[in-house]
Amino acid sequence: MGARLMLSFCYSCRTYHPQHEMTLLETKVGRRWRCIASINASKQSRAIRDEFGKQQSARNKEESLKQAQIANEKRITKSFYHVAQI
Ligand SMILES: [Zn+2]
Repeated sequence: MGARLMLSFCYSCRTYHPQHEMTLLETKVGRRWRCIASINASKQSRAIRDEFGKQQSARNKEESLKQAQIANEKRITKSFYHVAQI
């Protein structure tokens, strides 16, 4: 007789995994088993999302800064010509 593999239902994957690959979590609906792999995967995807969001907002900031700079330059050029014409 070998050691019986304890399986528990993983609410994340909706399937059964061996308990040694899982962790018992306290959730709103009570204690639930969840595999460590799915926890790591969701942590990773969140980190990727966060990183993407950071890059995106940095790009937006850069873009609006550029637009402001262009608008500013146009204004300066315009006022320069205005002065030159007088
Ligand atoms: Zn799982």
